[in-house]
Amino acid sequence: MRDTPDLSGGLQTPSLPDAAPRGAMCTDCGLSRMAIAPRCGTACQFTVPDFERRQAAVHGDAPEDDPWFGPRLSMHRARMRAPKPGAQWTGITTSLAARMLETGEVTAVLTLAPHPDDPFRPVPAIVTDPAEMAQVRGMRMGYAPLLALLEPAVAQGHRRIAVIGIPCQVHALRAIEAELGLDRLLVIGTPCSDNTTTENFHAFLARLTDRPDDVTYLEFRADYRVEMRFRDGARRLIPFLKLPLSDLPDDFWPLTCRTCTDYSNRLADVTVGYMAGDGDQWVIARNADGAAMLRALGDEIVLEPPASKGDRTRAVQGFVENTRRAAGGLPLRRMPGWLRPIVAWLQPKVGPKGVEFARARLEMKAAEAVLHLRRAAPHRMRHMIPDHVWRLAAPYGITAAPGERGPAAPSPEGPAPDATATPPR
Ligand SMILES: Cc1cc2nc3c(=O)[nH]c(=O)nc-3n(C[C@H](O)[C@H](O)[C@H](O)COP(=O)(O)OP(=O)(O)OC[C@H]3O[C@@H](n4cnc5c(N)ncnc54)[C@H](O)[C@@H]3O)c2cc1C
Repeated sequence: MRDTPDLSGGLQTPSLPDAAPRGAMCTDCGLSRMAIAPRCGTACQFTVPDFERRQAAVHGDAPEDDPWFGPRLSMHRARMRAPKPGAQWTGITTSLAARMLETGEVTAVLTLAPHPDDPFRPVPAIVTDPAEMAQVRGMRMGYAPLLALLEPAVAQGHRRIAVIGIPCQVHALRAIEAELGLDRLLVIGTPCSDNTTTENFHAFLARLTDRPDDVTYLEFRADYRVEMRFRDGARRLIPFLKLPLSDLPDDFWPLTCRTCTDYSNRLADVTVGYMAGDGDQWVIARNADGAAMLRALGDEIVLEPPASKGDRTRAVQGFVENTRRAAGGLPLRRMPGWLRPIVAWLQPKVGPKGVEFARARLEMKAAEAVLHLRRAAPHRMRHMIPDHVWRLAAPYGITAAPGERGPAAPSPEGPAPDATATPPR
């Protein structure tokens, strides 16, 4: 059993069962710790992804759908009018969940709290008091068995639950949703890219600063800079081009996260990120539940049409070329030292912005998933790469070789459910 940290404020962090032995493609979403652990074999985003079937079951016929952002009713640039202290951005994610508790739509929120000794280490937490959502604000790097909270939450009598999750957690959650016996499930998703273990993340921090233990916040911003905040209130911006990314060991990012095919969290009711926000946040309401959650914030949330500027093509082409070289074991084409500060200065001014920036990142991630899987686990490609990823990578000359592209893994669950356990949306 994991030690139960003593988080003040009454938010619960129940002791959860140990994980079953897991394969290399596991991010410990928590399913392997549940009584229905055998469902890992039919629910996992990495081994049995099934986006088309699950999207149809959860979102129905969405009026808009594309390979970049997935099914949706609307997409907005967004921010909380009064940003929440301690939030990763302005706190839309935790505000949505708090509002669902306040209005009685749900009685519990399952999410990840910071460990008392390490703000970057995620700890699964059940929140029942809207005021306690303040304690879980902010982003942590690492994996934590979020879904294993479902059992204690249901045992406590909760039948209306909201879950805040990253894409691999949400894919598995959707697969088991109908078996949970819930009256209502609301899913607030964030995008996720390049997650790694909390230990690896600390090693990364140590490469960025000589006082890594003082770092309280880190974000890869849409203006091509990493922002770091420190305990003493100091703030530092590092241009992406100056990050020591190419010096990191090859196994720094687990193969799962390197080859993840669901950057934008396509199965959430609402996705809250920042990539297309051009300095603000960015929300995608994917179905009626997602739209109703956003509406419930009233005028506390500012929603605007997303901006888009620039042309992503050359940036993505350059990234793809370097990823090809790295995947083929060739040295990366490094920019001469004297040119870096100039390009780092130019990038935020002339690089793609808003929706164009988000499209660039999604295409880069798609290309990376295909190229790394082709190198590290080619036998997985046929089932692991969904159609939307092939479509994003194709304009950059990345197409399936014979045997690499096939149908989604056959699902032992049978045909798509007509409806989930929750009432019709
Ligand atoms: C590893 C990782 C990578 C991300 N990469 C991107 C990206 O490339 N592009 C993008 O647009 N957005 C990304 N996000 C999401 C982004 O960082 C913000 O979380 C999101 O914009 C919400 O901001 P907020 O102020 O609304 O969140 P807040 O209101 O501060 O709430 C954040 C919520 O996220 C939960 N959370 C924190 N860490 C984790 C974790 N490790 N796993 C699961 N849940 C967690 C918290 O418990 C809390 O409920 C990433 C998130 C993670 C965890």
